[in-house]
Amino acid sequence: MKTFLCKTCNKKFEAAGVRFDWNDPVYGPCSKYTAQCPCNGEECEEYKHQMSHKEEAVSSCGSGHCSCGR
Ligand SMILES: [Zn+2]
Repeated sequence: MKTFLCKTCNKKFEAAGVRFDWNDPVYGPCSKYTAQCPCNGEECEEYKHQMSHKEEAVSSCGSGHCSCGR
């Protein structure tokens, strides 16, 4: 099961999803999963987890505006 997010309902739901593959002229082979929202039947994209605070701190360390104390 994968997690999907319906932007219309602002609701997360789990579904097996349907995989789409396509060849992007710029990025090459791509794939994504879509699933139908249980409340309005809309096609929704897979929910991507937000970066954790730890990952954000690590990635911002190089920018010189980091508050991680290093
Ligand atoms: Zn919905």
